[in-house]
Amino acid sequence: MPLFDVHAHLSDARLLNSIEEVLKRAEEAGVRSILANGLNPQDNARVLELSQRYPMVKPCFGFYPVDAVLAEMREQGIEYPRDAPLFDKEEGIGWVAEHIGQAFAVGEIGLDGHWVPTSLWGAQEEVFRRLVKLAIEAGKAIVIHTRKREERAFQLLKELGAKRVNWHCFGGKLRLAREIAEHGHFLSIPSNAYRNEAFRKMLAALPRESILFETDCPYLSPEPGRPSEPADVLRVAELAAELWKEPLKIVVERVSENFTRLFGVEP
Ligand SMILES: [Zn+2]
Repeated sequence: MPLFDVHAHLSDARLLNSIEEVLKRAEEAGVRSILANGLNPQDNARVLELSQRYPMVKPCFGFYPVDAVLAEMREQGIEYPRDAPLFDKEEGIGWVAEHIGQAFAVGEIGLDGHWVPTSLWGAQEEVFRRLVKLAIEAGKAIVIHTRKREERAFQLLKELGAKRVNWHCFGGKLRLAREIAEHGHFLSIPSNAYRNEAFRKMLAALPRESILFETDCPYLSPEPGRPSEPADVLRVAELAAELWKEPLKIVVERVSENFTRLFGVEP
């Protein structure tokens, strides 16, 4: 069963410290491809290194929408709980541009209005636009993170003509998720969906040809108290089988075809 995880943070210490075991468990669960998403130049470099050591790890290079304006946020004394390194915009975008030939996809990138104040939305959008253009020019699919700015992100992606897009952990309205799917973009559902009403609803209601699976590991654990890991994608596949009333094998085949349509290769 060619399962995959389209959104993982394998460079996170909680997974990196036992990476061999994490990947072995993924393999045992049937996972063939794990898209490791980078957040900034330092993280992208770790993702690249992992992908060179482990062929099942597919490197995605990005610039997280909070990291893209973190310097300005610190200057303004705005609280942000994640311990993230500081990079200026040109360095963040430049890293992706320089390594785009080695990228499986570009991500995660996007817009975040939860941590980032409105005064910095313009600067954040500028970085987003440039990264989307880079991805399109290089023929790479895009992995989107957006929080509270889903409508605007969709508007910009349409404006820029981005066709090959996956929306990770979409937190907007179901109506908008439907529009996004109708537009031909994909939405990935995380492994904690069985205990999250919104994700469960999306999985049940969206067209099946628009669905992908992810974990966002080590976040969004299906079992609180331990970090999630790529092997957990099996949980969302099982939930889909239940909601779609289809055998697990058919679900995995169907969703693998979606993966191939978006990324141009089989998982
Ligand atoms: Zn992420």
